[in-house]
Amino acid sequence: MNSIKENLFELQKKIQQAANLCQRDYKEIKLVAVTKTFHADIVRKALNCGVKCLGENYIQEAREKIENLSDLQASWHFIGHLQKNKAKYAVKLFDLIHSVDSFKLAQTLDKEAQKINKIQDILIQINIGNEKTKSGICKNDIFDLIFNISKLSNIKINGLMIVPPYYNNPEKVRPFFQELNSLKQEIVKKDFPNVLMNELSMGMTGDFECAIQEGATLIRIGTAIFGQRK
Ligand SMILES: *Cc1c(COP(=O)(O)O)cnc(C)c1O
Repeated sequence: MNSIKENLFELQKKIQQAANLCQRDYKEIKLVAVTKTFHADIVRKALNCGVKCLGENYIQEAREKIENLSDLQASWHFIGHLQKNKAKYAVKLFDLIHSVDSFKLAQTLDKEAQKINKIQDILIQINIGNEKTKSGICKNDIFDLIFNISKLSNIKINGLMIVPPYYNNPEKVRPFFQELNSLKQEIVKKDFPNVLMNELSMGMTGDFECAIQEGATLIRIGTAIFGQRK
């Protein structure tokens, strides 16, 4: 198996190639290294190789790693399903929460953010494939949700996130990326106060090149950096 350093080098090359192909500046595309199941020592290696953003799926697991790595600079992103009773920790630990999909969750985050005087940056997760097994708001409800959340004082919407249906062939995933991009443009047109649509969080190891071509600004990559998860 290649080292993390080699994997990151290869990955950066592919990100740049994908960006060049669609005339995007590769600096617009931020890599979120997804570290679930990997020990802090391994995450430390990635940070020492220049990784700046880390994505975690579970609060308890993330708490331990964030503490262990507190001597290093890193931006921590929460990308998993968030339960309301963990909102307090999420607000304390994470710079960006990708997975907000209900008004109730946003309200709870807002309350916790007020307590510590923070403006919490979030993305809205959409269940783009209408899959029963996945979290995310149904796309028909997206405008109401964004309008309601935009009124919360300590929450700032920065964009949208999806985990599309799984296909071996990334071309089959491309329409979901395109759909998210059109949704983003519709939201921009509505000009909600206090809502930014700067970020599209989409693309994982199997399909990030397609996602970049369709406008991703945050790609969430685990396997291509750290190898297969157990
Ligand atoms: C695990 C995970 C990823 C990373 O997936 P890879 O295929 O390993 O790159 C990205 N996003 C979410 C939400 C995840 O849970």
